[in-house]
Amino acid sequence: MLNHDKDVIIIRYGELSTKGKNRRDFVKQLERNIKSRLNEFDQIVYKATYNRLYLELNGADTQTVTEMLSTVFGIASYSVAHQCPKDLEQLAKISLQLLQEQDFKTFKIETKRRDKRFETSSDHINRSIATHILKNSDYKVDVKTPDVRVKVEIDNDFAFVMAKTFDGALGYPVGVQGKALMLLSGGIDSPVAAYLAMKRGLRLEFIHFASMPYTSQNALDKVIDIARQLQAYQSNIRIHVINFTEVQMDIYAKTNESYAITLMRRFMMRIAEQLAQKTKCSSIITGDSLGQVASQTVESMDVIARAVETLILRPVITFDKVEIVQLAKKLNTYDISILPYEDCCTIFTPQNPVTKPKLDKVEYYENRMDVQHWVTKAMSDYEVIDIKVSQENDLF
Ligand code: ATP
Ligand code: MG
Repeated sequence: MLNHDKDVIIIRYGELSTKGKNRRDFVKQLERNIKSRLNEFDQIVYKATYNRLYLELNGADTQTVTEMLSTVFGIASYSVAHQCPKDLEQLAKISLQLLQEQDFKTFKIETKRRDKRFETSSDHINRSIATHILKNSDYKVDVKTPDVRVKVEIDNDFAFVMAKTFDGALGYPVGVQGKALMLLSGGIDSPVAAYLAMKRGLRLEFIHFASMPYTSQNALDKVIDIARQLQAYQSNIRIHVINFTEVQMDIYAKTNESYAITLMRRFMMRIAEQLAQKTKCSSIITGDSLGQVASQTVESMDVIARAVETLILRPVITFDKVEIVQLAKKLNTYDISILPYEDCCTIFTPQNPVTKPKLDKVEYYENRMDVQHWVTKAMSDYEVIDIKVSQENDLF
């Protein structure tokens, strides 16, 4: 093979209806996110064009790279390709080589001629490559429903041959919609909500409420493990761990038990709002699903949301538990989420939580507490856990 031949990956941009600056931001962010995901391969060279991003692999393992790309949002599809000179004989040889790496019976050659000055017609290219393959293998042509489509592109400077195309993760590149603060518990729902929020382009900071010593280190490790799974979608993750014990004790000491969850959630929102402001997050995200528990009725969510002014997004609000579990399994968070360690809310859960809390009652109870004191205290001393791709082994 000639030495200017290259193995490349061709990435087609995802949902991109925007033009001008937005398009530039999309492409720039996508390139940054891919670089961060493929951090371990510093030999890869990136080249962004208007419609596509080309990755020259320079020896990086194709299979690992294609697997990693499958979780990068903002990609419609991507192909493993070989870049070579615009020479029919070579194109035929490479097409056969790429086919021989796969297990299949029928194929079709599809040529796109971008360089209109290239004198050979697409049809002629298709035929001459197919003839070479038919002569040198047992594969058969099927123009209607082939097992494998070999795509040949005649570009201005080079030709590309592609025999493998993958579906991308779709969505927007993480970060193009700004930052949001995700309330991450150790449960099943919140990691799924996080995934969906990231899919629409939000970069997430995470907040977790722990009730040491009532919740164990195991419970916190569970949250960290969940976050590590989410790293497939956002490489670097920061979790703010808030100590919630004293607030919960004060709620139990001074208010009515049936309102405890409502009050706890309002405190979570207030603390989250403060942290969102500090970390420049413009919304708060939860894993609430309508009707799932007493705190997730319309009335409860309304009263809880009224504790703050910040926009609250609830990506799994209309999902059934079965649908959430399906996604959680896909994200590999499900098996971690079902580990039995107590979470701050399960420990302090009342027997009969109110399903239709009244705002005036909530305010009546909160007047018995020094709300500002607890919010300030929570914000004055919390733990920050960074989970980064490049230092993974140093951290734990
Ligand atoms: P999950 O905890 O995954 O949401 P769940 O059914 O247990 O499932 P709830 O405990 O009712 O849900 O919590 C609703 C939402 O409140 C969670 O999705 C999460 O966003 C937030 N939340 C609950 N507990 C915590 C916590 N300890 N730390 C941070 N956020 C929490
Ligand atoms: Mg929970």
